[in-house]
Amino acid sequence: MAPRRARPSRGRAARLAPLLDRFQRGFDSAARLPADPVEFPRRYADPGDAEVAGLLAACLAYGRADVFKGKVEQVLAAGEGSPAAFAARLAREPDARVLSGFRYRFNTGEDVAALLAAAGWIRAGHGSLGARFSALLGEAPESSLREALTRFAGELRSAPPALAILRKRGVRGLRHLCPDPAAGGAAKRWNLYLRWMVRGPDGVDLGIWRDVAPAVLVVPLDTHVARVARRLGLTRRNDLSWRTAEEVTAALRVADPLDPVRFDFALCHLGMSGRCPPRRAPERCAACGLNEGCEAAGRGSRSARSGRS
Ligand code: SF4
Repeated sequence: MAPRRARPSRGRAARLAPLLDRFQRGFDSAARLPADPVEFPRRYADPGDAEVAGLLAACLAYGRADVFKGKVEQVLAAGEGSPAAFAARLAREPDARVLSGFRYRFNTGEDVAALLAAAGWIRAGHGSLGARFSALLGEAPESSLREALTRFAGELRSAPPALAILRKRGVRGLRHLCPDPAAGGAAKRWNLYLRWMVRGPDGVDLGIWRDVAPAVLVVPLDTHVARVARRLGLTRRNDLSWRTAEEVTAALRVADPLDPVRFDFALCHLGMSGRCPPRRAPERCAACGLNEGCEAAGRGSRSARSGRS
C-alpha cells in the first residue's frame, strides 16, 4: 500500500507566510513579463480584446513558451488589431479556412478558428466571457470554481459556430484547446486564464472580471510551481492533479486569504527562469529569497557540508 502523504500543516503555512509575502513583493515581475503569455492580453486596452486574446493565449499555453508564444502572435496578427472583432466575425460567419496556415502540435487553424468563433458566440449572447463565467459561478453548486469552469469549457466546445467550423475535422483538437476540468488534471491553463482576468490589476494580471473574487481562484499548477511548492512543504503530493492545486492554494490562502494566487507568477518564474532548477543546485539556493523556508535548500546545504552529492 502506498504511504499516506500528510497534508502540510496550517502552522507551517503560517510560518512561511511572511517569507512568501516578502518574496512575492520583492520579485521583479516586470523583467519576466516578456517571457510570459500574460503579455498578450496585457497589450489590449479594450477589455473585450483582452479577454479574447487571453483565452487564445491560455488555451495555446502548452509545450514550450517560446514556441507557443510565436503561434499566439500568428493568430493575433490575423485578427488585425482586434481579437474581439475577429471572434465576433467568426461567430457570425464561421470560416474553417481563415487560419489555414496555422499548425501547432495537436492543433490546426480550424481548431483555433473554432475557439475564437465560440468566444465570439458567447460574447454575443452574454456581453462578455467574464459575464458568462461569473453567471456560471453563481449557478454552480456551492459556487464551485471547478464546476463553473467545467460548464464554461463545455459551452465553448459546443458553441454552434465552432461546430460548423469543425464539421469536417471533428472536435478532438478543440477538446485539447478547451480541456475538461472535471477530468482530474490541475486545469493549469484554465486557472491561468482566470488568474489573468480576475486578480489585479497589479502590473501582471489584468483584473477585468470584477464580479469574480480573487479569493476563490485556484493556483495554475504546473511543473515549476509544483516543484517549488513541494520544496517549501506547501504540499507532499507529487502529481499535477486538481487536488494538489487545491492543496497548494489552501496553503497560499493562509498567507493571503483574499488573494491566494498572487504568489503564482513569482513562484512559477523562479522555476521557469532556471533559478530553481529541477535538480537541486545549492549554490543557487544561497541567493534565493525562499531559502530559509525551503526544505530542499536545507538538504542541499547539509549535503554540501558533508560532501555528499
Ligand atoms: S532555496 Fe533553492 S531549492 Fe528552495 S526554492 Fe529557492 S532555489 Fe529552489
